[in-house]
Amino acid sequence: MQPIERIAQAILQAERILFITGAGLSADSGLPTYRGLGGLYNGHTAEGLPIEAALSGPMLQRDPALCWKYLAELGRACLGAQANEGHRAIAELQRLKPQCWVLTQNIDGYHRAAGSPPERLIEIHGELAPLYCRSCGQEDAELAGHLERPLPPLCRACGGVLRPPVVLFEEMLPEAAIDSLYAELRKGFDVVIAVGTSASFPYIVEPVLRTRQAGGFTAQINPTRTDLSDAVEVNLQGRALDVLPELLGHISSHRICK
Ligand SMILES: [Zn+2]
Repeated sequence: MQPIERIAQAILQAERILFITGAGLSADSGLPTYRGLGGLYNGHTAEGLPIEAALSGPMLQRDPALCWKYLAELGRACLGAQANEGHRAIAELQRLKPQCWVLTQNIDGYHRAAGSPPERLIEIHGELAPLYCRSCGQEDAELAGHLERPLPPLCRACGGVLRPPVVLFEEMLPEAAIDSLYAELRKGFDVVIAVGTSASFPYIVEPVLRTRQAGGFTAQINPTRTDLSDAVEVNLQGRALDVLPELLGHISSHRICK
């Protein structure tokens, strides 16, 4: 059986399914990763800082304008692109499978835009919008407008610095997202499929390892091999944008035959 058929079979037979998605899925929409932002040289900014330092929680405190220079680049890239057929195929699979979850590292909000139900979507690195005030907490939904004006964007109510609800470097993961992930992991998954992620974080690797140890099915969809390749049962080399709609096609046709 072809890898794609093995994954389709596993999904058809499963109830609890987890898709883990990373930068590769957004790259198919044309989004750069933070390391691929314009103007970087060997991962360093024009100010001579590693991009991880520019996009860090401490930098937002110390020099909000500098941190926002790079947040704004991410923001413009996200606003300038959109969800792709890969996001839409996952959302459709979630409609067919009411216990299918998505855990994403991406901050672009494209899963939500593609129709993934928010109650089965864990955005472990947060999202770029809506902005909120660091001082008074007031929300501000107008990301696009702020990117046209001098940075950092300021709160209309109190003049404090606005920020997006993303996890910057050196910041904690959102507690609600972590709680939700581990609550679902305790219930267990029949199938875990990693898409477009190189999976270096423990909260990405752990669901794969746990599911495999418990006898579940694990797969990876990625153009190249990653750290995860040896851990999963099936490796499907390809772009999420091509593979996911094809996978959905296999599953839909099986369902019609039955
Ligand atoms: Zn404020």
